[in-house]
Amino acid sequence: MIFDAKGPQAQTTTTTDSARLSAVSGPSLSLLEKYLLKRGFFVRDVCDPRDNVVWTVCSREGLPGEVRYPNPHYHHLSRDRAADLQAALASASVLLGVPDEALAAQVAQIAVMPPAGFACRLCGVCCESMSDAFRGRVSYEEVAAWRELGLYRILRLVGVEERGGYTLYTAWKNPKNGKHFKRCPWLRSLPGGQGRGCAIYEHRPFKCRSFPYSRDHAERSHCRAFEYLPCDLEGAFMPVDRDNGRTQRRDDCGEAVE
Ligand code: SF4
Ligand code: SF4
Repeated sequence: MIFDAKGPQAQTTTTTDSARLSAVSGPSLSLLEKYLLKRGFFVRDVCDPRDNVVWTVCSREGLPGEVRYPNPHYHHLSRDRAADLQAALASASVLLGVPDEALAAQVAQIAVMPPAGFACRLCGVCCESMSDAFRGRVSYEEVAAWRELGLYRILRLVGVEERGGYTLYTAWKNPKNGKHFKRCPWLRSLPGGQGRGCAIYEHRPFKCRSFPYSRDHAERSHCRAFEYLPCDLEGAFMPVDRDNGRTQRRDDCGEAVE
């Protein structure tokens, strides 16, 4: 089924500017997952037959515990997503030693922030080669944000599958035949031969926003955004104060570390 503005997914919402903003930029399980991937976590899915829920389990070597939450792509009608998010944030907060509020702010910021040294060449290779980006799942929160903003040109390309007890949303499906596009329908040539860009850049899915998780992730995906760096980032050391020549160590998220 393709998203239908008049169908069961078209919930009535009261919109205020702040509600719109939080719908678009507030933390969500999907963003938390991107954040954890950028912090070097390993993510795996485990199906629990007792509750028929696919749980995502995030762990990082050296940390004594895990962050566990229902896979963000499953919109379980019987689950309280806000409570699931709070529980996941609380366990991530304890694991990382970051206070709850600070963590929520970090998630919103770092999940979509490129790694230090990233310089996009506007080649469009990622949009072409990573089929998961234009044929993969999108989360309920992304769909809700597009709805809040009235972005039906995006919503009409979202596939909706209602299964027993949960709903899945998929990018991008041709509304004429319900099939996936062979390439991303939003990838366009930029004027003046400047390269290629995204026609929905401001509203592109979290998956696209969060690419790449790291320099290694970029290079494995044939992204050349880290070529010809003007400064040496080997060992994640990046000059941050050229006046006095000091250097400061930064992690893949560009955050200063001791
Ligand atoms: S592959 Fe890398 S350099 Fe090319 S458009 Fe994507 S992010 Fe930019
Ligand atoms: S939606 Fe935009 S950023 Fe994502 S794959 Fe398509 S063109 Fe690329």
